[in-house]
Amino acid sequence: MSDFKWVLNGTCPICGKGKVFETKGSLLHLKAPKMYERCSECNYKFDKEPGYFFGAMYISYGMAIAELIAVFLLITWFVPLGVLFGIMFAVLMLTMFFNYRVSRILWIHIFHE
Ligand SMILES: [Zn+2]
Repeated sequence: MSDFKWVLNGTCPICGKGKVFETKGSLLHLKAPKMYERCSECNYKFDKEPGYFFGAMYISYGMAIAELIAVFLLITWFVPLGVLFGIMFAVLMLTMFFNYRVSRILWIHIFHE
């Protein structure tokens, strides 16, 4: 597995320079992320084959569940159940693109040759 900083920066697993996603700024960007087809620096193809990112979906599901459990444990004692579910839904929406990007970037960094 490549440099962990490259994962945090969302850069190419081969050269660590080209960006994987078009969105600028931090991983917490809330706009729908768009992936580059290839690395702008070394021309590495990110989406190697159809279905390549299927497994990344499981990472993003796992992240969503972990985030919801964390929110639940943090606020369950302080708010009524209805409010709790509202907040959990908001967290799910807010972290959706974040999880999508992080899971794909992780996937690229774990499964590249
Ligand atoms: Zn590259």
